[in-house]
Amino acid sequence: MDSRILVKTEKLRKYYVVRSKILKRVIGYVKAVDGVDLEVKEGETLALVGESGSGKSTLGLVLAKLLKPTDGRYIFKGLDITWSLPKELRSKIRIVFQDPYSALNPRLKVRESVIEPLIVQGYSGKEAVEKAIEYLKLVGLNEEHLKVYPHMLSGGQRQRVVIARALITEPDFIVLDEPTSMLDVSTQAQILQLLKEIKIKRNLTYLFITHNLAVARFIADTIAVMFAGQIVEIGEKNNVFSKPLHPYTNSLISAYPPPDPEAIWKPEIPEESSIENTTNINGCRYADRCPYAKNICRREEPPLIEVIKGHKVKCHLYNLI
Ligand code: SF4
Repeated sequence: MDSRILVKTEKLRKYYVVRSKILKRVIGYVKAVDGVDLEVKEGETLALVGESGSGKSTLGLVLAKLLKPTDGRYIFKGLDITWSLPKELRSKIRIVFQDPYSALNPRLKVRESVIEPLIVQGYSGKEAVEKAIEYLKLVGLNEEHLKVYPHMLSGGQRQRVVIARALITEPDFIVLDEPTSMLDVSTQAQILQLLKEIKIKRNLTYLFITHNLAVARFIADTIAVMFAGQIVEIGEKNNVFSKPLHPYTNSLISAYPPPDPEAIWKPEIPEESSIENTTNINGCRYADRCPYAKNICRREEPPLIEVIKGHKVKCHLYNLI
């Protein structure tokens, strides 16, 4: 394995059982994540984009070790951590959620919330507070913020506290699940800039989950497009935006305005959930919405193939060339 690859998944799956209402018999599965092969290099930001219900957040939870997969492999720093995470790696993977309001316990002062992961690791109270001050400063806050409750902070300040708490255990890999989507536009821009700067300073690796293509374009090195539990396209950011290969990526980007990396704009992404009971889907998951669908598309699932170096797509249009 390339030594620069920090995170690797092989055929990773997360299925949810669907049961009948009365007899509770298994009647199918929701394939929230269905055979995902992914590699994230050290220091890279991989943005996972797609519509609501595409499985992005479920994949994020599996990679953050908060959900067990159904099948497949998850390799982190060369170790297979699919079914268990060695104690020494527990602090090395962290997640930041979308909602800073619910991520912090309203009854605890910032001090308690931020030092909690360190106390679990056996730090003394004094050492933990010193480190908390260091990390609050890193995210643009100061010592005074230790003394306040979350409701006394703005949304942006709360998300900074959440980021400080994620960073304080010195992780290598952070899953950021729509971390700016509940913030106002100017605060979003500040938090995104902060995340970029911290990543460089601390040599972090991010999986950045977003439905917002402008945010993905601003923050990412690599874009992975997810549809119905599968990665349908992955490649270097500029290649994906300038030459999208998959018809679904094309439809997302065609709703996207002229590039302005600083713009925080929300595209019209369809709300339709594509992963309702997916037990019996054969062939391409996008076939019912695809203007280029052929017979083979409904019969056979296309493989994810490399069309240009580093730029892969899961579509029969390229398989048939
Ligand atoms: Fe469309 Fe067929 Fe490609 Fe699926 S495999 S995206 S249906 S052309």
